Amino acid sequence: MVALSLAASGHFPYAKEKASLFSIANILALTLCRSEATLRILFYLVVKTIGKPFVPLRIKTSTTSFLQSLGGIHSSCGVSSISWLLFSLVLTIKNKNKTSTEIIVVAFVILLLLFLSSLAAFPLVRHLHHNVFERTHRFAGWTALILLWLFILLSISYDPNSQSYHFTISKMIKNQESWFTLAITILIVLPWLTVRKVAVRVSTASSHATIIKFEGGVEAGLFGRISPSPLSEWHAFGIISDGKKEHMMLAGAVGDFTRSLVSTKPNHLWVRKLHFAGLTYLVKLYKRVLLVATGSGICVFLSFLLQKRQHHVDVYLIWVAKDIETNFGKEIVELVRNYPKEKVIVHDTGVCGRPNVGEMSVEGATTWNCEVVIVTSNPQGSKDVVRACKKAKIPAFGPIWDS
Ligand SMILES: Cc1cc2nc3c(=O)[nH]c(=O)nc-3n(C[C@H](O)[C@H](O)[C@H](O)COP(=O)(O)OP(=O)(O)OC[C@H]3O[C@@H](n4cnc5c(N)ncnc54)[C@H](O)[C@@H]3O)c2cc1C
Repeated sequence: MVALSLAASGHFPYAKEKASLFSIANILALTLCRSEATLRILFYLVVKTIGKPFVPLRIKTSTTSFLQSLGGIHSSCGVSSISWLLFSLVLTIKNKNKTSTEIIVVAFVILLLLFLSSLAAFPLVRHLHHNVFERTHRFAGWTALILLWLFILLSISYDPNSQSYHFTISKMIKNQESWFTLAITILIVLPWLTVRKVAVRVSTASSHATIIKFEGGVEAGLFGRISPSPLSEWHAFGIISDGKKEHMMLAGAVGDFTRSLVSTKPNHLWVRKLHFAGLTYLVKLYKRVLLVATGSGICVFLSFLLQKRQHHVDVYLIWVAKDIETNFGKEIVELVRNYPKEKVIVHDTGVCGRPNVGEMSVEGATTWNCEVVIVTSNPQGSKDVVRACKKAKIPAFGPIWDS
C-alpha cells in the first residue's frame, strides 16, 4: 500500500508504469502463501535449519509466528492485487489511445473476479457457507487466471500505432508479467496432478465422529485433504499415523460431508497425495512442547504421540473433551492411553465439568517446563489458551482455521 501511494503520488515512476506487473506480483505472492508444495518444502527447510537445539528460542518462536501469519499475508496480497489492478485500469483509461478496448474489458473482468473471490473469503461467508466460499474462490480464481493469460497475450501483441495485434514469442519471453503468470499457473496446477481416487476404510467412532483409514505411513504434523467430488469440495483433516503402514483421519460430524460419512461409509475417496504442513509441523522446532486440544482437535497431535521415537521433541498433552470414550471410540482413546501417563492430562467435561482451559495450559506448561504451547480448539478455545499463556509470558500459538 505504501508503494501504491508512492506510485499514485508520482514518487515511484517504475511502479506507476508497471502497475499491472505489481498486481500480478501480488497474485504470485498470495498463491505462494497457499501453495501446499512450496510450503511443505519451506516448513521442512525451517525445521531442518532452525530446529537444532542450539538455535535460540526467540528465533524459533518468531519464525513460527511469521509462518502462522501466511494466511493473513495471502489475504493482504489479495487486497493489494485488486488495488494495483484498479490503479492500472484508471491509468490505462486515462491514456486510452495507448491500449485497446479488449484489453480494458479483460482487465476489468479480472478485477471483478478478484473482488468476488475476496468477498467470498470474508470470515462470515467462509464460516457459514464454506462450500460457497470454496467454489467461488476456486472457479473465480481459475477464470481470472485464464483471463490473465489473455490479458498478457493481448497487451504484448498490441501495437498502438497501427491499432492491431502482432504476437511474437520473443516479446513474450522478454515480458516479466508472462513469467510471473507462468509461475502462478504452475503453482495452481501442481496439487491437482497429485489427485487420486483411493480405497478407504471408514468406521464410525460414534454418531459424532468417523475414522477414515488409508494405506501408507505419514510423518507427524501433516494434514491431508479428502473429497467426495474434487471439483466442488475438499476437506482438510489432521493425519494420525505411526509413520509405518497406514494413516487415518478423524472427522467430527459437523458439516454435510462429515455427517454423510457416518451414514454412507464410502469405499473410495479422492485425496491429494501431497500432504500439507500446518502449524503442527513446527512442533519439531522445539525441545519441549505442550499440545492442548479440545474435542476433535486432538487428531492433529496424535502422530506425535505415536512417533515419539522418530523425533527429538518431548511432547506433553492436555486434552479436554466431552464423554471421551463414547464420542471418540476406543481406538482413539487407546492411542492416548498408551502414551506415558505423566505427560498427559485428559479432562472429560462430561465427568469433571468445563475447565478453565487457559489456566490449565499455563499450569501444564509451567509444571512440565515447556518452551511453547500449541493449541487446536474452536476459535474461542484457541484464543483463551493463547491469551492466558501470553499473559504468563509463555509463547503460544493456535490456528483459527483448519484449512
Ligand atoms: C488446525 C486445525 C485442525 C483441525 N483438524 C481437525 C480434524 O482433523 N478433525 C476434526 O474433526 N476437526 C478438526 N478441527 C476442528 C476442531 O478441532 C474442532 O472443531 C474444535 O476443536 C471443536 O471441537 P469439538 O466440536 O469436538 O468440541 P469443542 O467445542 O472443542 O469442545 C470439546 C469440549 O471442550 C470444552 N471446551 C471447548 N472450548 C473450551 C474452552 N474455551 N474452555 C473450556 N472448555 C472448552 C467443551 O466444553 C467440550 O466439552 C481442526 C481445527 C483446527 C484449528
